[in-house]
Amino acid sequence: MEVQIERGFEPVAGLLGLAPQADLGRDVEQDGQIRRESGGGQIRDRPQLRQGEARAEALVGERRIGVSRAHEDLAGSKCRADHLGDELGARRVEEQGVGPRLDAGGAVRRAREHDRPDLLPERRPARFASEPRSVAASTQRVHETPRLERLASALGALERDEPSRHGASVGIAPGALCYAPAPIMRDLTERALDTAAQLGATYADVRVIRRRDESIAVKSGRVEGVALGETDGFGVRVLVDGAWGFAASDTLDLAEADRVGALAVRVAKASATALRRPVELDGRPPATGTYETPIVEDPFKIPLETKISDLVAADRAAGAVKGVAFTESIYTGHREWKTFAATDGSFTEQVLTQVGTAVEANAIEGDEHQRRSYPDAGGGYQAAGYEYIRGLDLAGHAEQYAEQAVALLSAPQLPPGRRTIVLDPSMLYLQLHESCGHPTELDRVFGTEASYAGTSFLTPDKLEEGFQYGSDLVTIVADATAAGGLGTFGWDDEGVEAQAVPLVQNGRFVGYQSSRETAPRVGLRSSGGMRADGWNRIPLIRMTNVSMLPVPGMSLDEIVAATDDGLYLANNRSWSIDDRRLNFQFATEIAWEIKGGKKGKLYKNATYTGITYEFWRSCDAVGDERSFVMLGTPNCGKGEPSQTARVGHGVPGARFRNVQVGVGKW
Ligand SMILES: [Zn+2]
Repeated sequence: MEVQIERGFEPVAGLLGLAPQADLGRDVEQDGQIRRESGGGQIRDRPQLRQGEARAEALVGERRIGVSRAHEDLAGSKCRADHLGDELGARRVEEQGVGPRLDAGGAVRRAREHDRPDLLPERRPARFASEPRSVAASTQRVHETPRLERLASALGALERDEPSRHGASVGIAPGALCYAPAPIMRDLTERALDTAAQLGATYADVRVIRRRDESIAVKSGRVEGVALGETDGFGVRVLVDGAWGFAASDTLDLAEADRVGALAVRVAKASATALRRPVELDGRPPATGTYETPIVEDPFKIPLETKISDLVAADRAAGAVKGVAFTESIYTGHREWKTFAATDGSFTEQVLTQVGTAVEANAIEGDEHQRRSYPDAGGGYQAAGYEYIRGLDLAGHAEQYAEQAVALLSAPQLPPGRRTIVLDPSMLYLQLHESCGHPTELDRVFGTEASYAGTSFLTPDKLEEGFQYGSDLVTIVADATAAGGLGTFGWDDEGVEAQAVPLVQNGRFVGYQSSRETAPRVGLRSSGGMRADGWNRIPLIRMTNVSMLPVPGMSLDEIVAATDDGLYLANNRSWSIDDRRLNFQFATEIAWEIKGGKKGKLYKNATYTGITYEFWRSCDAVGDERSFVMLGTPNCGKGEPSQTARVGHGVPGARFRNVQVGVGKW
């Protein structure tokens, strides 16, 4: 029987819980005419593309103010002016799930261009198109009728979209996946920015986002559910008198751009009345260009029947093993079209495509429940096309994993003690995520996530002193340019170019994940880590791909072979970590004893615990490039209203000495 040892998190209940929460069944009206007062106070006729309702709210101090909302899913915002306490109660969502083992090529990295250790070679993110047109910040309204009609036409076309019109395929030409033709999209973004600027915003940005999610769930050989959902809209973020304001809408037209831009300014002005610290942004060049996830097979073009039959085949292969009580399998496809523009002239377009899948076998005997999942707990995810799903070969691995689940039922409980442990990438990725990824988020350090996500033990004084976070083998980067990572993109949601930022270098704490607002407070520039969960949320500092760099010398297998006495732990099963990310406990699906360099006896219900910096200081071996794989989770929770982020982790596997194990009993 599985015992939840998490504290403060509500783990996703099984794989089926990972189905995307898409916006399903929204009414759309394309041809109506309505009259509405625009944000600029003008009345004009305009084609109505969507019936929608913009809503906005702000959190200032501990008060919730502003215009509010019929339901939170359609719009929401908050001004993060050092708010600490606030109403809790949103369902906590944390990550469960890791990615695949296919990216043996390692991460693509590019160093920051300023005051950073010369850690990583220079490199542009993959698939950057050049030729972006630079757009001057607009100060003039566009009332050109033909353009209005073109906008209506283009957005209407989106409603009739077939994957072939906007979907990706092999060798897609950069720009082929644009949300709407750039000149037309610019009308909308410039209108919102212009309105905000005219009403007093010193800075404004707008994101227009369309998101498509597809999911398939299979349980014990039967299809449990298939869902395809889409949502789109835009959000405007403004700075007025040093305070943030945000508003969003799912109605994509120029009058609504006026209204929402004006509303964001009103929210900012209200926020400014309770401002503790005026926002100052670090400088960056205007962002321009396009970025697309490189894919081979467009997952949205693969016939649904193929995807279902692939998944059912894997699920049934796991279920055919004697002793398996039930199986669960999932597939998800995710695509996001994202246009960003800002008053500094930035204009970028991105198309991000990601897929994930998993098969899970559960064995039950009496009150004993054991689980094995392939490729990892929660699922394997990558920024890739369906070729990644095929490469995982779920059906080919299902039987072996199912047999392990059954074998665990009769395996002995891992006895307590202090042991040498080798962490498989499927466990190391979550260790990295929880004990390095989260505490190096600078908004947590400043307390702005204290009421929900928590704070951090990695305070700025530790950055100054070069705190010894781990052994000299431990080097960790936040790398938004890594191939296949769920946190890989061209620019973040503030228009900061993707980059690789060292967090820990040879054991020393050297950097934070930060934003344009937070980085200057510790004398840095933004790490490019701001991302929002859709068009109706403000961006927060989110992990990109927080990865542990491989160390040349030994592969993970060679590390095992060089271990005389220890344990090999794989696949996370549950975890607990305190708000400051200092004390942790993890349980794994499976443990093998290592004797004389060989993996042998199985143990069930393995757990280990430690103090973050003591644990990482005990690291005495790290796998080399041959063991480096890109994993990831689509379910990292943070923020209020709750946001989930899709983050990647490149990990090589590593060995740690003198670790307390066997702390869980059930
Ligand atoms: Zn997380």
